[in-house]
Amino acid sequence: MDDRMFRTAMGKFATGVTVIVSEANGDVHGMTANAFMSVSLEPKLILISVGKNAKMNQTIEEAQKFTVNILSDQQQEMSMIFAGQLKDRDVAFDTFEDLPVIGNSLVSLACHVYDSHEAGDHILYIGEVFNLSVQDGEPLTFFEGKYNSQVTS
Ligand code: FAD
Repeated sequence: MDDRMFRTAMGKFATGVTVIVSEANGDVHGMTANAFMSVSLEPKLILISVGKNAKMNQTIEEAQKFTVNILSDQQQEMSMIFAGQLKDRDVAFDTFEDLPVIGNSLVSLACHVYDSHEAGDHILYIGEVFNLSVQDGEPLTFFEGKYNSQVTS
């Protein structure tokens, strides 16, 4: 099995899209991620997977807190900005629980780092959710490397 086949297979799993945001020493850093899942109800835990080479790691490790922002179908641009596909854009963050969040997200989760594990070329962060906000709307989704808004039928 080669890397491309593995990527193709994983791309068949349709997901939502999140932006992980954290702040350390006054610098806010965001990163688009679809490797996100709910883990536990008691305590309330979620999991994200961040590539070892991502700058995001440094900010999360320093802050020990982060937010997960589940994007709506109106926020593809946010996903592209924080995936490095649209460069040099100014983003105004909202604040929730003293943490930076992406305004108008379907959900923003405020998390403490509960645990972390190295797994191959990624780091898994388990976050304990200490507050959340929810809004109505339709989700941004990602399937076979494309956003739902790019799917034609
Ligand atoms: P950078 O590449 O430096 O930052 C990402 C981009 O965000 C840069 O263009 C930067 O300018 C911009 N940015 C950061 N902070 C700010 C700010 N404060 N204001 C304005 N712009 C800012 N990678 C994973 O590791 N795990 C995943 O689950 C994952 N899922 C993905 C899902 C999708 C749909 C896509 C498109 C990509 C995904 N990626 C994932 C890839 C990941 O988003 C990119 O590799 C990303 O560039 C890595 O970010 P970085 O922390 O290294 O920082």
